Formats: sequence, C-alpha cells, structure tokens
Amino acid sequence: MSDRVPQSILDALTDVEMPRLPPVRPFRQTVDVAGHRVNVAPCGALVVGSGAAGLRAAVEMRRRGVDVAIVTQSAWGGTSACSGSDKQTLHTANTADRGDNFLAMAQAIRAGGAMDEDTAYIEAVGSARAMASLQYLGLPLPQDELGGTLRYQTDHDEVGRATSCGPRTSRLMVKVLAEEALRLGVPFYNQTTAVGILKDKAGVTGVLAMRPRDVTADNPLGLVVFGCRALVLAAGGPGELYRDSVFPNGCFGSLGLALEAGLTLTNMTESQFGIGTRREGFPWNLSGTYVQVIPHIYSRDADGIEHHFLSDYYRTTQEMASNIFRKGYQWPFHASRMLDFGSSLVDLAIYREGQKGRRVFMDFNRNPLAVEGDLPFDLGRLDDDVRRYLDKGGATQALPIDRLRQMNPLAIELYRRYKVDIAAAPLEFAVNNQHMNGGIEVDIWGRTSLSGVYAVGEAAGTHGATRPGGAALNAGQVFGTRVAEHVAASGPADGAAASHPPRGDIAGAVEALAATLRPDSDQSVRSVKDAVQARMSDHAGILCTPDGVGAALTAARDLNTALRASGIRVSRPSEAPRAVQWRQMALVSEAVLAALDHYIGGGGGSRGARAICDPDASALPRTRLGPLDDVRFRPEREADKAQQINLRMTSDGLRIWSRPNRHFDPEARAFFERDWPAWLTGSIYDAADLKQRTD
Ligand SMILES: Cc1cc2nc3c(=O)[nH]c(=O)nc-3n(C[C@H](O)[C@H](O)[C@H](O)COP(=O)(O)OP(=O)(O)OC[C@H]3O[C@@H](n4cnc5c(N)ncnc54)[C@H](O)[C@@H]3O)c2cc1C
Repeated sequence: MSDRVPQSILDALTDVEMPRLPPVRPFRQTVDVAGHRVNVAPCGALVVGSGAAGLRAAVEMRRRGVDVAIVTQSAWGGTSACSGSDKQTLHTANTADRGDNFLAMAQAIRAGGAMDEDTAYIEAVGSARAMASLQYLGLPLPQDELGGTLRYQTDHDEVGRATSCGPRTSRLMVKVLAEEALRLGVPFYNQTTAVGILKDKAGVTGVLAMRPRDVTADNPLGLVVFGCRALVLAAGGPGELYRDSVFPNGCFGSLGLALEAGLTLTNMTESQFGIGTRREGFPWNLSGTYVQVIPHIYSRDADGIEHHFLSDYYRTTQEMASNIFRKGYQWPFHASRMLDFGSSLVDLAIYREGQKGRRVFMDFNRNPLAVEGDLPFDLGRLDDDVRRYLDKGGATQALPIDRLRQMNPLAIELYRRYKVDIAAAPLEFAVNNQHMNGGIEVDIWGRTSLSGVYAVGEAAGTHGATRPGGAALNAGQVFGTRVAEHVAASGPADGAAASHPPRGDIAGAVEALAATLRPDSDQSVRSVKDAVQARMSDHAGILCTPDGVGAALTAARDLNTALRASGIRVSRPSEAPRAVQWRQMALVSEAVLAALDHYIGGGGGSRGARAICDPDASALPRTRLGPLDDVRFRPEREADKAQQINLRMTSDGLRIWSRPNRHFDPEARAFFERDWPAWLTGSIYDAADLKQRTD
C-alpha cells in the first residue's frame, strides 16, 4: 500500500459507522416475585452478545425461521466492534494462488495442542463458507483482479492464510452482520446485561437480565426474564480479568455466568499476551506493520532517563532489529521463542522494564539504536527474510514512520482518530493480556454441557494453545452458523415462544441476586476489581511460578468465600449489573488459577502464553549479558498437547479433570450415496452431546 490511497478511503476503513437500533417492543408481561415486578419476554432462542459471533448465530437462526432475540450489554461494545491491530486478521482457507488443503489447515490450527481435532477441521472446512458469506453481506475483503483474496502471513501461520480489511476488520464484520440482523427483524435488547441462567431438569429455561433503563420503584434492579429453550452464549472473553490488558473497557464475558450455572469450562489455562497500547488510553495491538517497520524501542525511568534496554538482550543490531520485525507475525508471547535469541525476548525485555517501574515507548521517527559495541542499524544489514519482506513492500525509506506510511497508512490514521499522532510523538505500550483461548466446553455443534445452551466466539473454549492470528474471528463465524443449524434442525426453540420459566424458579434467581447486592458489605466493585486484576496480572501473566500461582489461588478462593458470605456493595442502582459481573469475574479468576495450579502441579510445561518458571527446569533464555536464571522455565511436554483441562463449579468447589482431545480421522472419507440420508433426515445433528458423554 502507499500513501497515494485517498483520505476518503482511509476514513471509511478506520471510522466505521454502525447502524441505528430501532426501539424494541415494550414488555407485555410481568411477574411479581420476592418484592420485584420482573418483566418477562418469552422468545424461542436468545443470543447473549452482539459481537461478530453472536450476530452470526442470530442472523443464521433467523434465516432458518427461529424466533430469536439478542440481549447485549452494549450493542457496539466488546472486542469485535472495538478492537484491532494494524491489519486485523481473518484466517480462512487460502483462496488465492493454488487453493488450500483443509486437512493441512486443520493441522495448523491445532498445532499448539490442547485442541479437539474435529473442531480444527470444522473451522478449516467452514472457513471458505464463512468468508464467502461475509463478502456476500458486503465485507470489503481485498481481492486481486482475478478474484483471489489478498493474503499475508501472520502468527502461527506458515502458509499465509491471513486476510484483512485493515485495522477494523471485526468492526466491519459486526456492521454487515448487524445490518443483516436488522433487515431480518431480529430484536436487539441493548444495555441489557445477562446475570443468571435459569434451568430445569430438561435444560435451560431462560435468562435473568438487568436493564438499568427499566428501573422503577416496583422493579428496583430493572430485572427482565427472557424465556428460552435455546440459549447462545456469545458474550466474548473475560477482558476485565487482567490489569494489563488490551481488551476494550467493560469486557466481562460470560464465563462466570456459565460457572454459576454449572457448565463445564475447558482450557482455562490458555490465553494470549502480547504488545499493545493499554485500555487506559486507546487499546490496540501493535502487531504487523507497526513492528515490521522496525521502530526504536526504549524505556524511560522516573527521572526521565532513556534506556536502550533491548541492547542488553540481543548480540548484534541486526539480530535485535530482525526480532523486532518478527514480532509482526510472531506477535503473541511464546516461551520457546525466548530461547536462541528469538522474538519473545522482546516481550520479556519489555515486561521486565515494566517491573522496574519504567515506561516503554516505540518511536517511529528513530531507527533502533545500535547494540552496544556493534554497527549502527542499516536496512542492508537485516536477516534475509526481513530484508526480502521490506524490499517487496517497497519499505526502504530511511525512517520507520515513512516505511509505515508506505506499507500501511491506515495504521497511522487509526491512532490519529483517537488523538494519538504516532508520526509526531513516541507511542507508550506494554505487554498485555489479549485473548482467552479457553472457555465454555462445546461439542461439534457448539453445544455446552447444559441442554439447550450453546457457546460461540471467544466465549467457547475452542481455541487451543496457539491459535493462528485471525482464527478467533473465523471460529465465531463457523460455529455461529453451526449453532444456528443445530437449533433450527433439532428444534429446542420450537413452541417455547409462549412460555417463560416457572414463577418459583424466577423467584429463586431474583432472591439469590438480591442477596449478593448488600449495602453493608466490605467488598465494593472497586475493591474486587483491584484485587482480581492485580492478582491475575502479577501471578498469571507471561511468567508464572508454582508458588506464585498457588498463593494467588488461595487468595482468589478467600475472596470468593468473602463474597459468598457478605456479598458486594452497590453505591447506586446503575452499578448493580457491574457488581454482579465482578462477583462472576472473581469466580473466573479462581477458575483460571485453579486450572493453572492443577496443570503446574501435574508437571505441566510452558506453552501458549505462559512460561512456567522453575529453578530446576532445563530451558534457559540467554541474553547478550548472560543467562537469565530467574526466567529458567519448564519446556513444553508433548503429552500435554493431547489433552485439555476441564472444570466445573459444584457445591463442594471446583471439580477439575483432564480429558483427551477429541479425535478426527483424516482418512475417513465421506461417501455421497452412503452419507446423503443422514443429511436429508437430519441425523447428522444427533451426535451424543457433552452431557451424555460426561455423565
Ligand atoms: C486488540 C485485539 C486485537 C485482536 N485481533 C484479532 C485478529 O486480528 N484476529 C482475530 O481473529 N481475533 C482478534 N482478536 C480477538 C477477537 O477480536 C475476538 O476473539 C472476537 O472479536 C470475539 O468476538 P465475540 O463475538 O466472541 O465477542 P465480542 O466481540 O467481545 O462480543 C461480546 C458481546 O457480548 C456482550 N456481552 C458481554 N457480556 C454480556 C452479558 N453479561 N450480557 C449481555 N451481553 C454481554 C458485549 O456487549 C458484546 O456485544 C483481537 C482481540 C483484541 C483485544
């Protein structure tokens, strides 16, 4: 790309206007329980969340005639609508060049392990349809003149299956899917927070939600119950879990909600961390061209003194510069890349500067300074792969900012929209939590362990230990479609439209909710938030130790015991949904720490986002100044790749167990005449669900 692209085109791809939501019909029914006049809205199926995954599920259900509604805390909030990077990525089968091989693609998606093999194949084979239907809805993915989609290489992607509409790919996905949902007449209950799942022996019966705009004297918490026999949890990831985070503000997800309802979660040990600007300012990933143009990275201490700290880690200027470049497509931290002077030494060095209380910056107006005692930076002295890429992209200008203007002017434009001019001043950044790869356990149709409840997108625990960049957005589209197919074909939502959960069940849920919101509690939204976020960032970030995780788990348990005993204080009615979400987040924090503790206690090694540091371990990162003994870490164990850690909340606390990955036989071929009847009769939807398999 060059800076000749007209400003109007840059504007359209960075400043994406979202559709206006029409008002929803007023609630017609109420039920009086426990001193609250609760609104009631029966529907067939309910989707919680209006990100790219939830909208896909809603659109596909509506197209199949399901009576579906969406409840969402914030219609254009969440990661899909508000997050991105230099080229926010969608990972789909490569349609350009010589086509693709779905088996190879599935293999690449699950290469990091802890991922069901059938899920990886489903995502691979479903990706072409997901992409084509997004294009049909108007998603402007770039093509060459012969119709091939333009591609590039991204994280954990050796082939080049990435494509992008620019920094705002997922917001554009939300836009086209939301326009379709509105065209189909799907009601959006905006500013509506789901706080509880109602169920009976047969499965889900409804969702208890809070709508501050409906607070009245009779309904002081603004409560509404949506009756439904099919529920799709599409509430995204638990972005508020960490203090150091690149998630947009207010991302809580639904893992706490799922734990409280007794759903099985999986892979809670697996997350992604990498460099980006934090949510205190404008949260954005600094991957791709931001680092491929090789800006100068430095820190500043409390006295304002600059430190060229990367010089202490790499042996030559060429090695340092080439690894800054590689952060572009090796963006997430990975323990093994701290070895052999790899690209995750950059993350480690930045993280350690933060621990020293220094602020870290990227300066696009300076090339990297030389490593002490070595030659100065020179575009002619870079590793071959790096030089070739920059040459091909025409990025041979003297300064990083001009190379960025050449390769991706949208990357500059994007920050400008948020009043940050990276062409004029250095950009402060850090290593942040970015994605939850684990989540609610689902089967091949997105079904959870509770009948009638499905999970899609980041809420679902389908992303394995090292997902390729862009695979998260693809997974939400593929499984959003499959969930809709299953709901429509197997009919849990049929005939439910006239019903709502029994009065007694609603009363029980309302009483439990009211009991946790106490004016006299020692715990406030602020105190729970500070405790949870600090604990997670300090003890469950990129560097973990067995003792640190164990102590953090004890503290997390204590917090939950206190919350169970004395609830959480609410200073005003509008704070009530947040208070419930923080109580649920405290549970999620305990679940992550319990899974990590279980994994580490069982001898688990470093994988995905985390290095498990251990003074007796064999893997030792080295720097120009010598080995880093305090970062000695356990290498990954091959056996751990073949399994996942499941957990569920019971009345006795968290139950944790391991299970093998589901298998997919690449040799098993479909045969048209033999397999056609299963499709025609719908028996493809009959596979045993998780509940049948785990009970
Ligand atoms: C900085 C950044 C960059 C990223 N880049 C990429 C990338 O390049 N490629 C990629 O594939 N992935 C990327 N990801 C991950 C990807 O954006 C997410 O996995 C994806 O957008 C999640 O979509 P979702 O629909 O599951 O959830 P979200 O988009 O987060 O939507 C969740 C929805 O649920 C609603 N909600 C939440 N809780 C409740 C509740 N209790 N009640 C009602 N509603 C609720 C929210 O308001 C929101 O509408 C990135 C993430 C970040 C943070």
